Amino acid sequence: MSGKIGVLALQGDVREHVSVLAELGAHPVEVRCPEDLAGIDGIIVPGGESTTMALLLDSAGIRSPLADLLGSGMPAFGTCAGMILLAAEVLDGRRDQAGFAVIDISVRRNAFGRQVDSFELDLAIAELGHEPIHGVFIRAPIVERAGAGVEILAAVDGRPVACRQGPVLVTSFHPELSGDLRLHDLFLKGVG
Ligand code: GLN
Repeated sequence: MSGKIGVLALQGDVREHVSVLAELGAHPVEVRCPEDLAGIDGIIVPGGESTTMALLLDSAGIRSPLADLLGSGMPAFGTCAGMILLAAEVLDGRRDQAGFAVIDISVRRNAFGRQVDSFELDLAIAELGHEPIHGVFIRAPIVERAGAGVEILAAVDGRPVACRQGPVLVTSFHPELSGDLRLHDLFLKGVG
């Protein structure tokens, strides 16, 4: 796969995504300003802190050009805070925490049941074969609602933790931290 894939590099675990992309043969581009969006075929919105990233999207001038690209159907992969930024609705977010609303899910921040803040769990994702994927959850968002057009790829206790709608893939957990390349590979296949 030789696509040019942006990684939103305002805050969060950018380096991990960049190295997974490079390992898979894609061309990662760190996106820090609107010019960095030129010619990308898809974008990864990493984990980190969604409220901070939302503010930095505005101060860097990236929000509107990126919204245009996403609105025209550019493939996107959001992990954890990235899932929050791509979701249609954010619960327990900050008032000024507007996102891109490109996947029809409602997510609640920092609210994964009564479980401790962070945990790890093996997840079955049929599309990725028999071998489970190791999910690293760090103050992960819950998906409280998924619209009819959203495919649930994996769930924990009946709650979706990996979803896809058209070209948009999101996970509550951090596949970039587990050394398993399969979800990134799935995303890149969607980029074509
Ligand atoms: N809790 C963070 C937020 O609300 C997300 C945590 C993460 O990305 N690991 O943005």
